[in-house]
Amino acid sequence: MAGRLGLKVDVDTLQGLREGVPALLEVLETHEIKASFFLALGPDNSGRAIFRVFRQPGFLEKMWRTRAPALYGFKTMCYGTFLPAPLIGAAAWEVLPRIAAAGHEVGLHGYDHVRWHDHLLSLGLEEVAKEVSKAQRIFGSIMGRAAQAFAAPGWQCSPRSRAVLAAQGFLYASDTRGYTPYFPRFGDQVSLILEIPTTLPTLDELLGFCGCGAEEFTELVLGRLENERPQVLTLHAEVEGGPFRREFSWFLQRCRDRGVEFFRLEDWARDLLKRPLEIPVAQVSAQRLVGRAGRVSVQGALEGPL
Ligand SMILES: [Zn+2]
Repeated sequence: MAGRLGLKVDVDTLQGLREGVPALLEVLETHEIKASFFLALGPDNSGRAIFRVFRQPGFLEKMWRTRAPALYGFKTMCYGTFLPAPLIGAAAWEVLPRIAAAGHEVGLHGYDHVRWHDHLLSLGLEEVAKEVSKAQRIFGSIMGRAAQAFAAPGWQCSPRSRAVLAAQGFLYASDTRGYTPYFPRFGDQVSLILEIPTTLPTLDELLGFCGCGAEEFTELVLGRLENERPQVLTLHAEVEGGPFRREFSWFLQRCRDRGVEFFRLEDWARDLLKRPLEIPVAQVSAQRLVGRAGRVSVQGALEGPL
């Protein structure tokens, strides 16, 4: 069995939306693949991410390993510090309809990516709600409709963020790292928004780690696709749509040669939600992952359906 793969493209920066997304659209068109894009639409405060050096063990090592200045460019690394933070959605609004017109899904990846990534757990319910509704307002003003899906910046979610997504009527979210779709449980609270987790390590987590390159990455993904479960791979517009575009195109070609089928997360969500009572519940906890700085929200063991 060749397997099924959902591509989730996170767009964190203005450079990612302006340059990385058009590059990815071209690559995906070449291989006739439809994907799911998640966009941060507020201020590009990438420069502030540099302060993670002082807070999160592993961040400096990750910056070095993934050659961050080559990925993001010097200007992006100064946004929000030495340079004012540009508003991503306003500065490159014309890219959004292009993504949708090519048949891809377009969802939200938050408003201020750096704020959510670094401070979600200390934000009150109203502040989290504002982050989501500001992104939704910008999306609506460009697309003339509401976004159906939300992917948390930095795989950071909390009972509050999930309550906000439920209150704002999202169809599903992709906030965590895990292995199969589920309803997340936080202690005794269960989030009733379907969660479709990222199931595979990202290219930037594996790059240069233990000598892992594009070939080893491709073998790892193809190996996992031999499972019966569909897999979800997160890409970054700044990485696979930037310096690693050629490696990514080669990876897609290998997948196509093996007969891998690609799907959009939204289509899978709609299908799963036809039988909500079959969707299991699982606890979510904050854990460290190889190759990623700080902790992320990770799916625990399955506990059976609701
Ligand atoms: Zn992101």
